[in-house]
Amino acid sequence: MKHVLVSALFVMLAFAPSASAEDFTHLPPGDLIPGSGTGRVDEKLYAPELLFPIEGKAYANSQVYMTGGLYGPSGDQCSVVNFSYPWRDNYCEERSWDMPLCPAGTGHQGQDIRAASCEKSLHVARAAIDGTITSIGSYSVYLTAADGTRYDYLHMDNVQVSVGQKVKSGAELGRVSNNFGGTSTSVHLHFNIKQNIASLGSVYVPPYLSLVKAYEATLSQPPRGVVELADCDRVAGWAFAPEQPDAQVAVDVEADAKPSAAVAEVLAERDRSDLCQTLGSCNHAFSAASPLSLFDGTSHVVRLRAIDPTDAKRYELLESPSTLTCEPFQPKGARRRLDQSAVAAWKLSSFWDELPQDASSLPVGHTFPSSREAFADPSDASRLWIVDEGQRRGLAVGDSDGWHINPAALKKATDAVLQLSEGQPFPRRAVWVTVKGSPFILDEGDTPEETVSPVDPEPQGPDGTLSGASESASCALGSTANPAPLWLLGLSAVIGLARRRKSRPQSL
Ligand SMILES: [Zn+2]
Repeated sequence: MKHVLVSALFVMLAFAPSASAEDFTHLPPGDLIPGSGTGRVDEKLYAPELLFPIEGKAYANSQVYMTGGLYGPSGDQCSVVNFSYPWRDNYCEERSWDMPLCPAGTGHQGQDIRAASCEKSLHVARAAIDGTITSIGSYSVYLTAADGTRYDYLHMDNVQVSVGQKVKSGAELGRVSNNFGGTSTSVHLHFNIKQNIASLGSVYVPPYLSLVKAYEATLSQPPRGVVELADCDRVAGWAFAPEQPDAQVAVDVEADAKPSAAVAEVLAERDRSDLCQTLGSCNHAFSAASPLSLFDGTSHVVRLRAIDPTDAKRYELLESPSTLTCEPFQPKGARRRLDQSAVAAWKLSSFWDELPQDASSLPVGHTFPSSREAFADPSDASRLWIVDEGQRRGLAVGDSDGWHINPAALKKATDAVLQLSEGQPFPRRAVWVTVKGSPFILDEGDTPEETVSPVDPEPQGPDGTLSGASESASCALGSTANPAPLWLLGLSAVIGLARRRKSRPQSL
C-alpha cells in the first residue's frame, strides 16, 4: 500500500511544471534597458504559432547594452549575467534603421537571443514555422511562411538548408554563432519577424511576446518515450526530449521505489530506423541486459523514467512500471578478479551486473582487463572484438548491451588488433560476483590460473547442456513465465569450446 502511494506521488511530481519553466522570467514588452531607446509597449502576438527558434535554454537580451556590449557594463560577452533570466525586449533599441512601429521611427529590427551557452556553432537554430527558405546570405537565413510572414535568422553558421527548400517547423536551419560579414559580433541569434501590416505594408513587427510564448511552450514539453521490453533478458525502448531533439536522453532505471535502492541509468543513444520518421532523428533507442541484482527469485517493480536534459526532472515512460521476477542461476566459468579501474572502464555497476549468488567454489582465472579495448569488426557489422590479454575475443553486436557497449560508438579494429590470435568468444554479458568482499567477473572462456580446480570441470546436466541454468533461470514478466534469458542460453553453446584457451602471445 505504501508503495502504491509512493508511486502515485511520483507520477504527480513527474508531471508537475518543470523547474526551468518556473525559473523562467521575463520583463514586459517595450521595457528596454534604460538609456537604450524607447520600446514599443504592445501586447499583440504577431506570430502566435511560433516554435521557439533555438533548441534548449535561451536568453533574450541586448547585445549592445548588456555586459561586454559596446554601450554596456565592461566585462565579457560570455559573462553569466548575459546568460540569465529575466528576458528583456530589445526591439526598437537605438539604431538608425527605419522602423515605422517604433516610437522613435527608427530602431533595432528584431530580438537578440543568446542560446544556452556562449559556445558558437553549437546550438541549433530551427525553423520557427512551416515554410520555404527564401534567402541565404553569408550569415543570414530567411524563412517565409504560407501567409507571407518572413522570419529572419542572423549570425548563423553551418547552414543546413538551401534557397527554395521547404522546411517543417523544428527542422534544423543551422547553428547559432557570431558571423556578421567580415567582423564578428557576440554569439547570438538576431531574430526578426517581417509581416504585412495594413496601411504600412511589410514591416518588422515586435517579436518579443511571440518568443516568450513559444519559449514557455518549449519549457513545458516533457521528454517522452516507451518501455517496449522489460523481462529477464532485456530492458529496452526509446526516449526523446522534444525541446532538445538532438540530445540523447538518459533513462533512470529504479527498482522497488526504495529511496536507498540502487539507481542506474541507461542512455537512449542507439540508432533505430523506425524512430527516424516519428521523431525526426534516429538515435533515441535504449537497450540494456536486465539488471542481475534483481535475479533473486522475488518480484521487483522496475520503473523507467526519462531525465529531462534541460532541468534533470524525471518523467515516467509509457508502459512503466514493469514487474520482473527473475530466478537466480548457477554461476559458471572462471571468476576473474575485477579492480576498481576495470569497474569504471567497463561501466560496471552492482545494480546492472552483480549476481546475488555464491560463486566461491569457482576457480580463479586471469585478472579481468582494467581497460576496455572494444572494436567494431571492419568487415562484419554483426561482430565486435574485445582485446583480452593479448588475444581478440569475439562478441556479437546483439550482446553489446550486456557490456554497456554502444556498438555505433566504437572505432574499427586496426590491423594490429585483427592480427592478434583469436581467443574464445567473450562472455555474452557481464556477470559480477562477490566472493569474500572481492569483486569478480565470470568468464567461461578463461582458463583458471589455479591448476587444481575446486569444482567439477564439466558442470553439465544429464542432457549434456546447462545443469542449473536452463531449469532454474526461469523468468516471469508480470504473471507470464519466460524462458531463460537469451544471453544465458548462449553460455551452453560456448561451454564446450571453452575448456582450453590457446596460449597467449605476451603483447600486442
Ligand atoms: Zn540584433
